[in-house]
Amino acid sequence: MAVISQFLENAISYLKGVGPQRAETLNKELGVHTYRDLLFYFPYRYVDKTQFYKVNQITAKNTHVQVKGILSPFKLIGQGRSKRLVASLKDDTGQVQLVWFKGHQWIKKILAPGKEYVVFGKPNLFKGQVNIAHPEMDLSNEYESEQTIKMQPIYNSSEIAKKKGLDTKAISKLTYNLVSELKQNDVLENLSEEVIDKYQLISRYQALKSIHFPSSDQAMTDAIRRLKFEELFFIQLKLLRLKVNRQSKLKGFEFDVLGTFFNEFYDTKLPFELTNAQKRVLKEIRQDVKSGRQMNRLLQGDVGSGKTMVALLSMLMALDNGFQAAIMAPTEILAQQHYQSIQELLYGMNINVALLTGSVKTSEKQNILERLKLGDIHILIGTHALIEDPVKFKNLGLAVIDEQHRFGVAQRARLWKKNTTPPHILVMTATPIPRTLAMTLYADLETSIIDELPPGRKSIQTEHRYDSHRLRIFGFIREQIKLGRQVYIVYPLIKESEKLDYKDLMDGYESVVREFPLPDYKISIVHGQMKPEDKEYEMRRFVNGETNIMVATTVIEVGVNVPNASVMIIESAERFGLSQLHQLRGRVGRGAEQSYCILVTGNKLSKEARERLKTMVRTNDGFEIAEVDLKLRGPGDMEGIQQSGVVDLRVADLVKDVRILQEARQTAIDILEEDPELVTGKNNPLKNYLDQKRTQKIGWSKIS
Ligand code: ADP
Ligand code: MG
Repeated sequence: MAVISQFLENAISYLKGVGPQRAETLNKELGVHTYRDLLFYFPYRYVDKTQFYKVNQITAKNTHVQVKGILSPFKLIGQGRSKRLVASLKDDTGQVQLVWFKGHQWIKKILAPGKEYVVFGKPNLFKGQVNIAHPEMDLSNEYESEQTIKMQPIYNSSEIAKKKGLDTKAISKLTYNLVSELKQNDVLENLSEEVIDKYQLISRYQALKSIHFPSSDQAMTDAIRRLKFEELFFIQLKLLRLKVNRQSKLKGFEFDVLGTFFNEFYDTKLPFELTNAQKRVLKEIRQDVKSGRQMNRLLQGDVGSGKTMVALLSMLMALDNGFQAAIMAPTEILAQQHYQSIQELLYGMNINVALLTGSVKTSEKQNILERLKLGDIHILIGTHALIEDPVKFKNLGLAVIDEQHRFGVAQRARLWKKNTTPPHILVMTATPIPRTLAMTLYADLETSIIDELPPGRKSIQTEHRYDSHRLRIFGFIREQIKLGRQVYIVYPLIKESEKLDYKDLMDGYESVVREFPLPDYKISIVHGQMKPEDKEYEMRRFVNGETNIMVATTVIEVGVNVPNASVMIIESAERFGLSQLHQLRGRVGRGAEQSYCILVTGNKLSKEARERLKTMVRTNDGFEIAEVDLKLRGPGDMEGIQQSGVVDLRVADLVKDVRILQEARQTAIDILEEDPELVTGKNNPLKNYLDQKRTQKIGWSKIS
């Protein structure tokens, strides 16, 4: 192992310019304990000090300006606390006021009116006039020769730290001291020469110096790119190593044969031709389940892309090999619906399917559990109830998790324990995840994508309407019902204001009932506070076409399939997130008829809400919508991502750095393919770095 310099492990108090008090502020306020911490305390932007403003170009909007001009004599103005020293700086376009609130004697002593100065600072607006308070001042003729910093780094600091004198300028003095002392072998290169050459990266040493004090725009860009690459590369390497490890260690059931169940179903029961995307995904699954390794596959497919059929065919593969299969849905309604449709599809085949949800009666539940243990039930469909402890399979071979975003990783893990060898796992989600996030979040899962809808679907027409258009909307609903269609009207249900939402829903329901009276119109209502059997009853009436309108909260969001429903009205649409809107819209457009989605909002809309609505109107493509969602909300707010920790990035940005992420990921894949244990000489830098990081971590845990 290479000799590691201890320089960066020095406590920050040893650094020039840091006394015990500063050290404490750095520790507490900025989390900086060591030289290393400070080195990795990167600026978030720079001010180009090679650029000069003219006085008449300065506005209070500029965050920093640098101007050159002649200093006027000082004047002391104001009384008491507002007493201040002022002077002006004059160039050929005008003059700007400079202000000092303290240190008057010192300022007067070191600055010489009548001379030309280079002034740097933040312009403020004071009584309609722009001034610069406590500017940095350098004599013009000394400036050129002294000026070593071309790009002034700007650092984040906390309010308390600033009060204690640790503002961006003070921090930059410290980083300057640190970087001046930093030697080549204090920072080990952690990428191989091959990678550095291939992507034309600068060295790690150079990058860590330049990120603080770049000599030019180009130097700054190069430093940032290098550090982003490194950051993303090591995340990928870590996740991919996990995957490689799991693949080599975790044995899985081998589904060798495609037997009678699969073939009989495929040849005689399949109600339609599979889309090419469905076929491709099935092949991918087939490869996994016969490989002898446990499958952990994520299936992404837009709403209505036909994931259920893929799940069913995969389950038949399990059955053909003597295993049981299970499918787990996030809601009771959805589980019911899977049960119903799977039973219909399998009608006449010798396959026992059972439904297990929270509302199944105890006696029946007991019976199901018994038969499950004996292997008499081949396919179990259910909700969370399915992962509870009493549920024991004879031989579970495949578990499908539908609409994954509602299931946590921990729940997924409980399924693993349902057999001595973990069953194959197929996770299905209709909330498309932006590519960049999928690459990071699910780097340890295999992913399949159904990127094609079954043929003959008419794309849903989406419109945005204001509350004031309600009468026209009602008219449209009437028209559609006359044509024999069914209509959803959905109200938001957001936890924090559950009571208010409930009232909105009930008010809405009443106005719908008034507008669409019996006997011409029949209305169902479903919401979260109903008993499961009432929900089921209302739902069933709508599914069977006995009611024309379904008034509901978002409980119908996921998965529900009523092909004759062709209109989705979303009330208070501005309150829904993009992925939710997209999910809801996916409830229509499932039959042969032209379908419509009407987003109803109030007149007052935030910029973001407007952007969401515009996106919905513009596109039906779930992946595109997911990308917009990511841009609007940032990765931290995306569903299921907070817990993952993967977006805790220092320099890289999952929205903007797609390209670098792809390069970094590909690099990690190539390296692991060639050298999974990282033992060859050229990968030494990586290996050393990982080892070093490990020891650093141990060091930290000792402290805290
Ligand atoms: P999702 O992917 O949203 O779960 P579903 O599996 O519920 O979608 O399928 C939506 C509808 O499309 C169902 O009515 C299903 O029968 C139908 N479907 C699925 N695959 C095909 C196909 N290849 N051709 C025609 N219809 C299909
Ligand atoms: Mg589905």
